[in-house]
Amino acid sequence: MGMVKDFFSGIYNLVVGLFVTGKHLGRHAITLQYPKERWEMPERSRGVVVLLSDPETGELNCTACLLCMKACPTGAIIIDREKNPETKRWFPTKFVIDNTICAFCGLCEESCNFDAIKLTGKYEFSVFDQSELIYDMDRLAELGRDVKYTPRKKPAAKKAAEQKKPPAEGKKPDEKKEDTAEKKPEEKPDKIETNPAEKKEEKAEASDKKTEDQESRKPEEAKQGDLGLDKEEDKKESGN
Ligand code: SF4
Ligand code: SF4
Repeated sequence: MGMVKDFFSGIYNLVVGLFVTGKHLGRHAITLQYPKERWEMPERSRGVVVLLSDPETGELNCTACLLCMKACPTGAIIIDREKNPETKRWFPTKFVIDNTICAFCGLCEESCNFDAIKLTGKYEFSVFDQSELIYDMDRLAELGRDVKYTPRKKPAAKKAAEQKKPPAEGKKPDEKKEDTAEKKPEEKPDKIETNPAEKKEEKAEASDKKTEDQESRKPEEAKQGDLGLDKEEDKKESGN
């Protein structure tokens, strides 16, 4: 009985297997015959970090400014540099990226102003020895030879272009300075504004002072009035 059950179960599984195979027979395969075939990764993939070079001269774009090394959060980049005595420009003598500690964050690419370093869609890191994952300058340059990129406008070039722009119409640079010089005295008022409450107090004090002065003057006016009467009386007497 058990053998009969196993027999029919085997036939059932065979039919199911054939059905699944037939279902996928005419469909496009989702697997690749690696390493003969490789995936095409999107443009902005964060894979192997490479050094870019001028496609015409083959020289590295790197100016050894060390910005990428300072921006790298894991310390995966090590650069040594020297200065060319003729051109007075720095150039890298050693450029190493340790892929065993690289986080593929892209900060090195972000910090570079010279399109010299880039994260690519390359993803093959299979090696037999871990030390092979530390890429030197030649390896990095070689990996970047076939990487296409569109050079960005450098910040220095942008600044120079902005400085070359003519000043706004109707106003010369000197006129602008004069305008600002004229405005300065207006900006600093001589009188400092006080609160309304303080103003009221000042007014009250001033009125009090006035009344005091008037009161102090009254006896003198009375004396003067007396004197005036005396004068009129003298005049009358002299007339008589
Ligand atoms: S790769 Fe870019 S950021 Fe790094 S040292 Fe070279 S020029 Fe500077
Ligand atoms: S991708 Fe990030 S971790 Fe890797 S080298 Fe560049 S800055 Fe450093």
